[in-house]
Amino acid sequence: MRRIAIALITALALSLALTTPASAGGLDDVFAKLLVKQVKGPNAKKHLNALQAIATANGGTRAAGTPGYDASRDYVAGKLRKAGYKVTLQPINFVESWTENSPPTLNLTAPGSKTYVPNEDFFSFQPSPAGDVTAQVQAVDLTLPPTPTPTSTSGCEESDFAGFVAGRIALIQRGTCAFALKIRNAGRAGASGIIVFNEGQPGRTDAFPLDIGEWRAGVPMVFADFAVGNELAATAGATVRLKVDSTLVLGTNDNVIAESRFGDPRNVVMAGAHLDSVPAGPGINDNGSGSASILEVAEQMAHFPVKNKVRFAFWAGEEIGLLGSDQYVASLSEAQRDRIRVYLNFDMVASPNYAYKLYDGDNSDNEGSPAGPPGSAEIEKQLEAFYGSRHLPTVGTDFDGRSDYDPFIDVGIPAGGIFTGAEGIKTAEEAAMFGGTAGVAYDACYHQACDTTANINNTALDVDLDAIADSVARFAFNLRSIPPRTAAAAAPLAAKTAA
Ligand SMILES: [Zn+2]
Repeated sequence: MRRIAIALITALALSLALTTPASAGGLDDVFAKLLVKQVKGPNAKKHLNALQAIATANGGTRAAGTPGYDASRDYVAGKLRKAGYKVTLQPINFVESWTENSPPTLNLTAPGSKTYVPNEDFFSFQPSPAGDVTAQVQAVDLTLPPTPTPTSTSGCEESDFAGFVAGRIALIQRGTCAFALKIRNAGRAGASGIIVFNEGQPGRTDAFPLDIGEWRAGVPMVFADFAVGNELAATAGATVRLKVDSTLVLGTNDNVIAESRFGDPRNVVMAGAHLDSVPAGPGINDNGSGSASILEVAEQMAHFPVKNKVRFAFWAGEEIGLLGSDQYVASLSEAQRDRIRVYLNFDMVASPNYAYKLYDGDNSDNEGSPAGPPGSAEIEKQLEAFYGSRHLPTVGTDFDGRSDYDPFIDVGIPAGGIFTGAEGIKTAEEAAMFGGTAGVAYDACYHQACDTTANINNTALDVDLDAIADSVARFAFNLRSIPPRTAAAAAPLAAKTAA
């Protein structure tokens, strides 16, 4: 009875919230107009000049693991502290180097015995930690015999490990999701070693060396051919010895996290931009532009008594696998995740041949990835409304997993944001909408040494800075359009998992 009543009230409140537009003249509207006036393109430009100077003084780069990154961190953290924020440096790990000292071992030790041939039947995954373990193998949601076309989802879902006995070696089949995700799930389930084998269709039978950029399961892991996996799966109670002899050296960089003094900590509005560049260049558009913009917004709003907590994140290690955002989200408890009501991502917002692209929260483009978690459509709508108020067009851009929103949407946190384009080519239609040159990349200096302060479009920087200020300000006072992160809100995710 009580549950039904609560559900009814929730449904009523929800429908009211969803149908009542944010009133013009509400606090959110007043603050948004004020903050948009306060933020200034030339201030963001000053930050970009500073990041350029840091790169120039450090071998032309601000990449993960370089002094240019640490100097960028110090610059941003210093500005935020000066503005009055409580700043946290969160250390995150990345692979500095990985060497294999001798070939790996995979032997069936019971029942019977069999020695598989290293670097033929199986290879160490790069960057597998060293380890030598003998344990029973446990199959994880295998599809045997394999279907004619790839369908295996082995290890893609945490639920695949529901009956997994910690301490065993996980036997996982290739297919559907990234190797790294299967490895992560196996690590969480307490596997003492991991064997992933090829799926089994023609062209998908052999083993080969692979760098999967994932090591955090902390156990030895190998990629085996289909025959090995098929045989182990067919052997009841198979026990194997699995050994990887490697030297894995991890480096550390810091995420910079700053939180508003004011605001309800149970409702957090989060805005993030990655702070690292690629090794090849100073990364001023990618992603000095996003970093400088959210830094300017943070500085200008520092003393406003906002209703909801606003948290700014400057991510480390994005260019080498979204490591900063990924490890940040992984470090949060369920309750901490639930408090993050929206995540706004700003990665490249001043591309020289720009288009105003908004993450396609509602999947109206019907392209690539599905819609974002509930609330993502509303984030997109709110940003659209800002550009609309300036009579500026926008287009959608897919949640293709290429930036720091990815770990957030993976755990059901609604996301959105702005992207002005990277190595993709501007279409004639977009040139008609936004100006610029059709048939040319949005950013011809993407991931190159020429991504300097000369690679910034000032108009795009100005407009997007205002759009970021507007969006952060509105959510800082009004989250009514965002559904609460309850079991109901998480339901679409559960459905996705079941499929
Ligand atoms: Zn980027």
